Amino acid sequence: MTNHRVIDGKAIAAEVREGVAREVARLESAYGFRPGLAVVLVGEDPASKVYVKNKGEQTKASGMNSWEHKLPAEASEAEVLAIVDKLNRDPAVNGILVQLPLPKHVNAEKVLNTIDPDKDVDGFHPVNVGRLWVGERTLVPCTPTGSVILAKSVAPSLAGMNAVVIGRSNIVGKPVAALLLRENCTVTVAHSRTRNIQSVVKGADLVVAAVGIPEMVRGDWVKPGAIVIDVGINRVPGEAGKTKLVGDVAYDECARVAGAITPVPGGVGPMTIACLLQNTVEAAKIQRGIKG
Ligand code: NAD
Repeated sequence: MTNHRVIDGKAIAAEVREGVAREVARLESAYGFRPGLAVVLVGEDPASKVYVKNKGEQTKASGMNSWEHKLPAEASEAEVLAIVDKLNRDPAVNGILVQLPLPKHVNAEKVLNTIDPDKDVDGFHPVNVGRLWVGERTLVPCTPTGSVILAKSVAPSLAGMNAVVIGRSNIVGKPVAALLLRENCTVTVAHSRTRNIQSVVKGADLVVAAVGIPEMVRGDWVKPGAIVIDVGINRVPGEAGKTKLVGDVAYDECARVAGAITPVPGGVGPMTIACLLQNTVEAAKIQRGIKG
């Protein structure tokens, strides 16, 4: 018997997208412009192509302008930088997203650091990382924002909770930690060198797993009643020679103990693009000095 609550990321992402569409319509009627997102794709990585297509479709569905700039895998770093520079200077473009991974001969850090911080809808630019930690208005990375929205869907105030973030990457773990600190959690960041990680996790009222190890977090790691947010997306062998997706959390075991838990798929995954759309609107407002 289980009494946990499954957090429905698909439904919550749909609500976020509806909010974005309303705000886009409001901006158009109040200020006479439509926010726009430009996505740059270099090469033919199949997963990246799917992501870029989905981002474009959802951007248009929310009423915003969407542009795709596709470059061949052999494109030089200078060519990628030239496109970013052009988009930086185009006032119709409010958000710029360079799809990762970039080909090896292109320095991803250099490209990302060239994006105008106010158009950096991925929130990866060091200026935005700094603004996040300082507590200024900024563009926050999408998957971390989505993870915190899901946690708050079951506990509107996270204040005072012991939160354990597993993983310290720049794109997930660290920004999640910054956001949870902003929510007044007591935050612990666990990582590959953490000792007795199981006992660290056991103290958590809120666990965010962003590791990339299939089903690492077991049922007996989780404190009864804890909120478990699973960011992991791992492809493992499934039935009949097919692959299936699992998270970084052993779902069935943890669901028996947790108070609320996100599934994979259908948890954090759908939130990422929804939060990207939200960031594009926020970027447009920051650029035009529109409050709220
Ligand atoms: P990463 O490889 O950059 O970072 C993994 C982190 O896990 C590192 O900081 C490392 O210290 C930590 N780690 C590694 N082994 C560990 C161990 N044994 N114990 C504790 N910590 C350990 O990965 P990432 O980019 O942060 O992504 C993490 C997971 O989230 C992946 O499964 C990825 O596919 C997924 N992801 C999902 C979304 C989404 O939209 N839902 C977005 C980004 C990443």
